[in-house]
Amino acid sequence: MNALNLQFFDQLLSPNHIAPVEQFPDEPCLIFSNIPKIETIAKIRFLFRLLRIPQIRFQSGNEEKVQRLIKHWRAKLAPQLDESSDKKTLNQLDNEYLIDLSSDNQIIKMVNHLIQRAVDLNASDIHFEPEEKYLKIRCRVDGVMVDILQLPANEQPAITSRIKLMAHLDIGKKREPQDGRIAYQLADRSLDIRISTLPGIHGESIVLRILDRGDVHVSLDKLGMPEDVLTPYSKLIQQPHGIILITGPTGSGKTTTLYATLEKINTGKQKIITIEDPVEYQLEGITQIQVNPQVGLNFAAGLRSIVRQDPDIIMVGEIRDHETAEIAIESALTGHLVFSTLHTNDAASAITRLQDMGVDSYLISSSIIAVMAQRLVRKVCLDCSESVPLSPEEADLLGISQTDFPSILRGKGCERCANTGYRGRVGLYELLQLSDKTRHLISTNADANDIRQQAITEGLRTLRQNALEKLHQGITTPEEIVRVTRAV
Ligand SMILES: [Zn+2]
Repeated sequence: MNALNLQFFDQLLSPNHIAPVEQFPDEPCLIFSNIPKIETIAKIRFLFRLLRIPQIRFQSGNEEKVQRLIKHWRAKLAPQLDESSDKKTLNQLDNEYLIDLSSDNQIIKMVNHLIQRAVDLNASDIHFEPEEKYLKIRCRVDGVMVDILQLPANEQPAITSRIKLMAHLDIGKKREPQDGRIAYQLADRSLDIRISTLPGIHGESIVLRILDRGDVHVSLDKLGMPEDVLTPYSKLIQQPHGIILITGPTGSGKTTTLYATLEKINTGKQKIITIEDPVEYQLEGITQIQVNPQVGLNFAAGLRSIVRQDPDIIMVGEIRDHETAEIAIESALTGHLVFSTLHTNDAASAITRLQDMGVDSYLISSSIIAVMAQRLVRKVCLDCSESVPLSPEEADLLGISQTDFPSILRGKGCERCANTGYRGRVGLYELLQLSDKTRHLISTNADANDIRQQAITEGLRTLRQNALEKLHQGITTPEEIVRVTRAV
């Protein structure tokens, strides 16, 4: 693709909200969403003339279309690290406009490009994985790893050093794990990135976690809760005191649910304090505290200090030890509304997990209002979905009949979903509200299964039922359901 290069694209086209059409250069047309300045147009025409594309046309389009094309081209124009034709083209273009376009270091550009790519894909993490011959770069998108790029192994030290420099880590320290943060400025937003390094046999493995992402911030009624969960849950979170727990494995969207919950109940009339690890999104009007083990600020210590600050509502990122559990329960019993999360597969197991941590059954049954288990499934891409019959194997795997599910929706794969057939995610929920009977079972140390059965008798709808509803509605696929609810 020598008719267009990344520098030109990154520095002159995309910042001005201009993108070539997909058929470029066969169709030499550029789409803009804001009318470009005359000098910008002149620069672009001049550069394309040098690239032997004299007949450039400009056409107006909406911002969404331009952004889609920008993502398309950024994915196509991977930066070149070697002495590429790309660079030669730039040398030929001996012009003052090009001096600043080519002055940047290739490595810096490569790292910036990868971060930009990850943001385009709405990835949660970027993984740099050194192997014997390659540095493999992958992103986690909608919970699933996606290959992005493979670079020759000899580029690995430079890339690693660049990232460590950005995070102010010690470049010389290669044999011990390090962690840090990067405040990264993208064109229109500032990103908060967490970095961790781990020495591997072929070099340091680096993971960048992108915080402050737009999808962490969603309102409660947009999470995909079925009506029979949303309505009671919205009432439960208005209670003056007690504990509400959200459970599920890592990456099941618990934090998003908690943020949406706090936003919903944050009317400005109550004091809300959180302790989190990490603070993933900043909420207005809420005091958020970041766990910091280096100064002894863990969940338990943080929670103890929070209680002294006279809060009405407290959110504890996670309960993973006896001490945190005890303080949380004590706070709930002394008039606070407490939200937290636990790593259990279903709602009923949260109760027995607390008992396993050594919390008294009586305290559990008198403080907990409700437990909600959740998962995230990928949604079928609406741009390439098609109706296909459910196979006998799939029906068998899910324990459903083909007569109930004659056809399902599935994505063929298209440009907008990076050929995965999926775009975005939606939650699956199971809300366990404690009744007198379930409380009694808890206080007699009944096992999770008995609590679950009692709740089902009282109308609990399980994660799996919610998953099958979403399959029926064409929102997700059998593979996704099996992937996220295997253990349920
Ligand atoms: Zn698609």
